[in-house]
Amino acid sequence: MKKVLAFDIDQTLNIAKTPIPDEIAKLLIKCLTHFDICPISGQKFDQFLVQIVNPLLANGASVAELMNLHLFVAQGTQYYRYDPAGKKFGPVEITLVKPNTPYSEQNWQQVYNYPLTDEQVSKISTSLEQAAKELGFWEEDKLKKGDEIIENRLSQVTFSALGQKAGTKEKYAWDPDCKKRAKIVKRAKELAPEFDYEIGGTTSINAITPGMNKEFGMTHLMKELHASEDDILYFGDMTEPGGNDYPVVKMGIDTITVRNHEDTAYALRGILGIL
Ligand SMILES: [Mg+2]
Repeated sequence: MKKVLAFDIDQTLNIAKTPIPDEIAKLLIKCLTHFDICPISGQKFDQFLVQIVNPLLANGASVAELMNLHLFVAQGTQYYRYDPAGKKFGPVEITLVKPNTPYSEQNWQQVYNYPLTDEQVSKISTSLEQAAKELGFWEEDKLKKGDEIIENRLSQVTFSALGQKAGTKEKYAWDPDCKKRAKIVKRAKELAPEFDYEIGGTTSINAITPGMNKEFGMTHLMKELHASEDDILYFGDMTEPGGNDYPVVKMGIDTITVRNHEDTAYALRGILGIL
C-alpha cells in the first residue's frame, strides 16, 4: 500500500499554468484523507498557491486535509507545509478564489530552501539568452507587458519562450515536438556546461545545478516524510529520458505516465475505488 502520492503539476494535474480543475481538486481532497499528497514542479511558490491550494480551498479542503499536503516547489529545492498554528493569519497577498477564506501565504511554513547563487543565476540566464538568440528563438516581441522570458525561480532559472503570460494555445503551438527546446538546450549546454537543462511544460526549459532536479526533490521528500521509494506513487507527463519527470522514474519509484489531467483523474478514481 502506497503512503504518498506525488504529482508533477503542468499537464499532470492541470492544463499548463492554469488552476487545477474542480474535478482534480475534489479527487485530491479525497486522497488527502488517505495519503500524503505532494505536488512537485519547477514552478514558484505563488503558482502553487494559485494553481493547487486555492482550488483545494474553493472545493472545501479542511485544515486536517491541508496538513497532509506538502508543496515541493522549484523541483523540490524548496519545501512548504501548512501551518495552522500561531498568529499567522496575515494580510492576504494573492487573489483568492473565495475572498473570505481565512488564509494567507504566511500559513505556509518553508521547511527548507536550496537557492542558486547570484553568479549562477546570471551565468545560466546569459547562456539561455545567447542560445535562443543564435537559433532565432528569442521572441521578445511576442511578450505581454511586464512579462519576461527568463525568470529567476531561486532554486532554478526558467526559460519560457513566450513568457509566463502567453495564452495556452500559443504555447502549445510553439514547440509541440520539443525540437526547438532541444536545440536551445544543446547550445546552452555548450555555453555553460556546468548546469543541467531540462525541458518541461509547453515552452519551458529549467536550468539547475546538476542533481537539483526532481531526484533531489524526491530524495528530500522521502527524508521529510520518512518514506521509502516503495511508499510512493508518482504521476507525470514527461517521464521519457530528457523529460523533467524522468529522474523520478530513474530512482525506481513507481510512476504512472499520463497525457493530461483527465488521465490522472481516471487513475485517481481507480485508486480511490479500491481503498
Ligand atoms: Mg509536466
